[in-house]
Amino acid sequence: MSRSVRLGMFFPWEDAFLVCFVLILALPNTEAWSKEGHVMTCKIAQALLEPQAAEVVRNLLPDYSNGDLSALCTWPDQIRHWHKYQWTSSLHFIDTPDKACTYDYSRDCHDSHGLKGMCVAGAIQNFTTQLSHYKHGSSDRRYNMTEALLFLSHFMGDIHQPLHVGFTSDEGGNTVDLRWFKHKSNLHHVWDREIILTAAAELYGKDMDLLQKHIQKNLTHGTWSDDMSLWKDCDDLFACPNKYAAESINLACKWGYKDVSPGATLSDKYFNSRMPIVTKRIAQGGVRLSMILNRVLGNHNQDILVPA
Ligand SMILES: [Zn+2]
Repeated sequence: MSRSVRLGMFFPWEDAFLVCFVLILALPNTEAWSKEGHVMTCKIAQALLEPQAAEVVRNLLPDYSNGDLSALCTWPDQIRHWHKYQWTSSLHFIDTPDKACTYDYSRDCHDSHGLKGMCVAGAIQNFTTQLSHYKHGSSDRRYNMTEALLFLSHFMGDIHQPLHVGFTSDEGGNTVDLRWFKHKSNLHHVWDREIILTAAAELYGKDMDLLQKHIQKNLTHGTWSDDMSLWKDCDDLFACPNKYAAESINLACKWGYKDVSPGATLSDKYFNSRMPIVTKRIAQGGVRLSMILNRVLGNHNQDILVPA
């Protein structure tokens, strides 16, 4: 399907944005689903913003966030079940055919009714496009732009979580019940949260900030400093989310589903081998989110996102 047709399907989304925005953002955090991963992704991204993009992000954030993007990066999870925002619930993930271990936009990026573009890769394309109009927009579009920023920031986290691009029949591992060390969990939740919490508890004295700083140090002075430019490499902002989704289903097959059967107990062996993948994906999500924001909100000449 041509890009212009896909984009044409996105524009009606903009109409669904305005109502209740301030009210919703003012509510306390009532749901912590995979909160830690999103917070780290957004902190990494914000630290890598160039001055002009950083200023736009600060301007778009509500005052009570004190300029901290990470404080609102879980907002799309908090509102996804609200009637007004139910249309966004399919935008957090991609279901791919069982055992195929591949991702194909035209085959896989749709909601349960088959509506094209309604998946996490399509959402990133849509909200990136919306933000790219910021420089030409008027102030009455501010709330749209704030929502676009928060959705984009959240979905860049989701698309890097390997089990958010998982098999259809087990809902990305959600129906694979198992034990994580001694307590009940499921495979999706292991990748959303358990590995991060266990890493913080076992290796960083339960201090999530220390884990976050360790990831950031690996980016600036350590293991990943040479990889950053490769991660950021993206000729076509519209096509890159498909690359990120393909990476995720590949990792889901190689590491997520591998050697896991329902009812299994996952412990040290699984944790030790998968933890480096989780931290790397959080870092990649942050680096790439900053790349997108710098290009659409910064000084760059970004002209590839205008629909044909
Ligand atoms: Zn999500």
